[in-house]
Amino acid sequence: MALAGALAHLRFPVEQSRGRRYPEAFSSFRNDFQRDRDRIVHSRAFRRLEAKTQVFSPGISDHFRNRLTHTLEVAQLARTAAKVLGLDDDFAEALALAHDIGHPPFAHSGETALNEALAPFGHRFEHNLHALRIVESFEHRYALYPGLNLTFELREGIVKHSRDLPADQSGPLAEYLPGQKPPLEAQLIDLVDEIAYNTADSDDGHDAKFFQLHEFAAAVPKVAELYEEVETQFPAAEERILLHEIQRRLIDHLMRGLMEGTVAAATGLKNVEEIRAHPTRIACYTSEAAETTKALKRFLHQRVYQTEILREERDHSAAAIKKLFAHLLEHPEHLPEASEEQSKLPLPLRISEYIASMTDNYFRRVYSEVMLVTSALRTP
Ligand code: MG
Repeated sequence: MALAGALAHLRFPVEQSRGRRYPEAFSSFRNDFQRDRDRIVHSRAFRRLEAKTQVFSPGISDHFRNRLTHTLEVAQLARTAAKVLGLDDDFAEALALAHDIGHPPFAHSGETALNEALAPFGHRFEHNLHALRIVESFEHRYALYPGLNLTFELREGIVKHSRDLPADQSGPLAEYLPGQKPPLEAQLIDLVDEIAYNTADSDDGHDAKFFQLHEFAAAVPKVAELYEEVETQFPAAEERILLHEIQRRLIDHLMRGLMEGTVAAATGLKNVEEIRAHPTRIACYTSEAAETTKALKRFLHQRVYQTEILREERDHSAAAIKKLFAHLLEHPEHLPEASEEQSKLPLPLRISEYIASMTDNYFRRVYSEVMLVTSALRTP
C-alpha cells in the first residue's frame, strides 16, 4: 500500500484553526501549531514530566523511561506517522508533547488512588480534564492572559485524544465539539502512545530481568517471527542486541499497521468535516497489527505490570497518596495559596489537582514534611 502523502487531503489546515481564546498578534516565522508546540515545551508542567514515573521508578535502574522520555518517543512516532501520511506533523507533535501533561505522580496508581479518594465525594479524577486546566489556567507565565493560550484544536485534542465526548456533554468540556470526532492528527496520538509504551515497556521489562527473550517470543507470534529473522541474520549477537533488533522491527510493523489501517479506513472520506462527522474514529491498525498489540498487552500485564515488585510499589504509592489526600482534607491550611481559578473548585478537587500536579519527588517531599509536622503535633 502506498502511504506517502496518502491522507494529505485530510490534513487539518492550520489556517482554519478556530484560534486562541485571547487573540494574539501573528508570529512572523512560526504558524499557530508550531507556536503551540513551543509553548508546551516551555511550560513547567512539561518539565515536571521528567520526575514522574512511567512504569518503572528510577530507583531500579538509570535507563528506564520516565514520563518525559516516553513523551518524546510518542512525539517522534506521531511526527513520523503524520509526515508520511501528509497530515500536519507540527499539530501531531504538539499534541503528543501535551498528551501526558495531566498525569499525576507514580504512573497509573496515582490516577487510581486519586479516583478512589474522590469517589466518596461524587467526583472523579480525569487526567485529560486536569491537563486542560493546566494549559488553560494553572500555567501562568504571560502578562496578557492566563494559561498557555493554545489554539482550540490543541485543547480539543488534549481532551479528546483518548476518548470521544458524548453529544450531550455538559460542563467545561461542552465547548469542544461534543459528538464530533477530533481531526486525524489527534486520533493518531492514542495509538502511537500505545505503540510507544508497548514496545518501551517490553524493552524496560527485559532490562529489569522480568523475562527472557524466548518467553517474549513464545507469547507474541510477531516477536517469534522477528526473533527467527534476527537470529538468522546475527547468529553471534547477544540477547540484548537481538531484543533491540526485534524492537526496531516491531515498532516498524506496528507503525506500518497503524498507517495502513488508517489509510484503508479513510477510503472515500474527502475532508476534515467528514472525519469529524464520521460515526467512528478513522485512525486504526490493520488486523495483523491489532493482533500483535493485543498479544503484547497480554504479555506485559502478566510479566511486567502484575509482577510482585511493581504491584508492591504501586500499592505503596497509592496508599501514600490517599494518606496525604486525607490529611489535606482535614488540614486545608496546608494547601498552597489557591489561584482564583483553583479557589472555585470544591476542596476534594482542589486537593486532587494539587497532588496530581506533583512530581514523584515533590510528592515525597511534601508527604514527609506534612506527615512529620502531624506526628510532631501528636507527640505529647
Ligand atoms: Mg502516554
